[in-house]
Amino acid sequence: MTLRVGIIGAGPSGLAQLRAFESARQKGAAIPEILCFEKQSDWGGQWNNSWRIGLDGHGEPVHSSMYRHLWSNGPKECLEFADYSFDEHFGRPISSFPPREVLFDYIKGRVEKSDVRKYVRFNTVARHTSYDESTQEFTVTVEDLKTGLTETHVFDKLVVSTGHFHVPAVPEFKGIKTFPGEVLHAHDFRGAERFYGKRLLMVGSSYSAEDIGMQAHKMGAASITMSYRTNPMGYHWPDTTVERPLVTHFQGSTAYFSDGTQDDFDAVVLCTGYQHKYPFLPSELSLKSPNVLYPGNLYKGVVWQQNTNLFYLGAQDQYYTFNMFDAQAWFARDVMTGTIELPPIAEREADIQVWLDRQAALPDHDAEADFQTDYLRELIDATDYPPFDLDAVSQLFKDWMHHKHTDILGYRDMIHRSVITGTMATKHHTRWLNAMDDSLERYLYGQSQDLDSEDPEEAVDAAETLASR
Ligand SMILES: Cc1cc2nc3c(=O)[nH]c(=O)nc-3n(C[C@H](O)[C@H](O)[C@H](O)COP(=O)(O)OP(=O)(O)OC[C@H]3O[C@@H](n4cnc5c(N)ncnc54)[C@H](O)[C@@H]3O)c2cc1C
Repeated sequence: MTLRVGIIGAGPSGLAQLRAFESARQKGAAIPEILCFEKQSDWGGQWNNSWRIGLDGHGEPVHSSMYRHLWSNGPKECLEFADYSFDEHFGRPISSFPPREVLFDYIKGRVEKSDVRKYVRFNTVARHTSYDESTQEFTVTVEDLKTGLTETHVFDKLVVSTGHFHVPAVPEFKGIKTFPGEVLHAHDFRGAERFYGKRLLMVGSSYSAEDIGMQAHKMGAASITMSYRTNPMGYHWPDTTVERPLVTHFQGSTAYFSDGTQDDFDAVVLCTGYQHKYPFLPSELSLKSPNVLYPGNLYKGVVWQQNTNLFYLGAQDQYYTFNMFDAQAWFARDVMTGTIELPPIAEREADIQVWLDRQAALPDHDAEADFQTDYLRELIDATDYPPFDLDAVSQLFKDWMHHKHTDILGYRDMIHRSVITGTMATKHHTRWLNAMDDSLERYLYGQSQDLDSEDPEEAVDAAETLASR
């Protein structure tokens, strides 16, 4: 009987799984029956963002945490697909840090070329899953969000690719309930224009706090305070921005910090991270983990330890993204088809432990980049995913982190060389700090609204114009 594979989620990870099977088909392999469920009306996951907050048009939680004016936060050369280069997609070199819409276009380009849309059921949400030990089958109940009808589907293998940056972790703070200004989690942040002239408090010290804070600076916020729990980020911030230790409580519009200082604010953004949540899975199949580079219980970061018919893609914290999801999907495919034979459970456990021990001893961010590089190397070595110079990518990560420390507002203006094609990126026509139009048209052709300017004063005028819209 033909193998039946179910995939839940058509973001970059789920699309990697479709592409992995398509790549095998092109090489003459027989491929399974595949069905992918995607709750949104289009694919792309986080990159298919929305202006909505809270619930979408079907009453489902809005998935994407991305926002207007989101530009890639790492060099695009670190995430380039080994089988579909930026050169192939855009036909010419582009800059190293494109905006969201440009990367969304790139993700779509590869899967459109592969003709895998036919496997995806859009507007269809996975609601419930059960596993029958005797038949070794998963039964997945899905709901068609347009008709409200539910159906069940039976699979031999199940791939969970629903992401883990969409269910906010929200801490409680004494007095926050009566803070008179706006309080929101980063998941609900849709653009910094509304913070023009405002005093902003960001709670958190990771990517979201850093990026939303600098978006607010770019859009003319009066001041930005970043509050950290353990360590400050320590960048050379612009003079609008300071770091403070953790907020202890609020009284009216005043926030009190653990170093005894206090300040008044107009708005609070909780950049306090996300939870792994898989409400469509029974607890024994559901990954419970903080956001780490190597979650436990997944062999090679992919195969569920107690049930090797279940696979998770993209469950890690991510230096690498699109190409890591590819390497994982190629590995998962080969395990599903029996091309890769899994070792016994004790050996898998020992392998997981080696990675967990190494993770526990990681001294700094450079070591983290090397760690994930070595992880990718193992997956790529085990499959026919096109190999590429992983050490060069690891060096790109280190250069990028160094540039951020030197110039937090300017690192996106740096250019890097592709390890796939050798092409050097071009400088973008507008510095990131002055780029006020993040559309694909403006990025590629310099068309659309004439808001971008190289003149800092004109850029401030442009920010005012955006804020008043
Ligand atoms: C604010 C933000 C900024 C980021 N910036 C960058 C960046 O600059 N560069 C970078 O490389 N990465 C960035 N990332 C990381 C990003 O998460 C990955 O690039 C990538 O989107 C992860 O892909 P995924 O497929 O694993 O998950 P997702 O992109 O989250 O996709 C999961 C998909 O599953 C679907 N889904 C969820 N539940 C169900 C269900 N029950 N039934 C059916 N479908 C379901 C969702 O609708 C979604 O389409 C950012 C993430 C965030 C949150």
